Amino acid sequence: MAFLADRLKRIKPSPTVAVTAKANELKAAGHDVIGLGAGEPDFDTPEHIKQAAYDAIASGKTKYGPPPGIPALREAICRKLKRDNGLDYSPAQINVGTGGKQTIFNALMATLNPGDEVIIPAPFWVSYTDIAALMEGEPVVVNCPAETGFKMSPAQLADAITPRTKWLMLNNPSNPTGAGYTKSELKALADVLMAPENSHVHVMTDDMYEFLVYDGFEFSTMAQVEPGLMDRVLTLNGLSKAYCMTGWRIGYAAGNADLIKAMNMLNSQSTTSLTTFVQWAAIAALDGDHSFIAEHNAVFKERRDMVVRMLNETPGIDCQTPIGAFYVYPSCKDLIGRKTPDGKVIETDQDFVTYLLEDKGVACVHGEAFGLSPHFRISYATSTEALEEACRRIQAACQALS
Ligand code: GLU
Repeated sequence: MAFLADRLKRIKPSPTVAVTAKANELKAAGHDVIGLGAGEPDFDTPEHIKQAAYDAIASGKTKYGPPPGIPALREAICRKLKRDNGLDYSPAQINVGTGGKQTIFNALMATLNPGDEVIIPAPFWVSYTDIAALMEGEPVVVNCPAETGFKMSPAQLADAITPRTKWLMLNNPSNPTGAGYTKSELKALADVLMAPENSHVHVMTDDMYEFLVYDGFEFSTMAQVEPGLMDRVLTLNGLSKAYCMTGWRIGYAAGNADLIKAMNMLNSQSTTSLTTFVQWAAIAALDGDHSFIAEHNAVFKERRDMVVRMLNETPGIDCQTPIGAFYVYPSCKDLIGRKTPDGKVIETDQDFVTYLLEDKGVACVHGEAFGLSPHFRISYATSTEALEEACRRIQAACQALS
């Protein structure tokens, strides 16, 4: 009898986490590696947020928290959703999780029965399909190639819906492409969901990159563009990216009170609550000064422009300019079939990123992990100097192919 559970056969280790770990391991062993794998800002957590955590520890806010999240944080989240998104949620409609990943995990665990379908536009963040599969759901992947801006059309959504559809998972702006749905594009998708025959479909909207937008892009979210969907939308967000708090693990969900109650129950049986003093720091982040976000975005935009330019100067690589997040998702289609100096044929995007890591010490994530090949993802949330050097190495790697 096998010791490990069969359910584990449905998933694999997170490729983004694995690439980051591999790059760190190589660096620790003394190799000259530039890690462009992790979606993790290189900026430190702002001082006023850290101070709130120190203060919370000093004043003994170190005990178990309530599973939904401490009331003061849930109230701060309601204020945020009203201020930034015009959404009216009450604290009973908020669940605080240990990272965005746990809120997705809990939402799918709370709702999927075996065979329930989850529509996931590709390219997608690597964990969506695996979490859905782990919960015995069926990921229904909808191909959204570069030619259509990596975005799903209303017709594609309508075609993907079946009587078994439970969720649509939308990530806006997107990890890994940085593409963003405009308000009218979101409304067109919402119109499909408002059709009477689709009233069984719910939407999980992952807004983690809400504040990381460039070129005047205006962020909108599903519950805002179509209030008629309010009860069927689960609005997901977190503090990892915009607030440079990846390791603090703060995610939250806002939605239908019954679903939130179920997610709270899962917290009560797993983590109990997010670390209490971290929750006090989250309040300081949400209610505090946000001016650092614009400062960071100015730097991210410069880096984005440099990376896109240098990649498009590289023979065999084609890179769109994204409007958000801190990723680019170039195509390496024209490199497939070429040979490395060692005589290895590049057959897949996995082969290409392996070549970049082994020959040039540049760590990126292969497109296959995000469900759309042949591409690769670069995170430009790293220092400008390191990025420039990494792009030079990618150029050299491509030029060396025969
Ligand atoms: N979300 C980030 C990424 O895509 C962090 C790693 C992960 O959890 O996937 O790189």
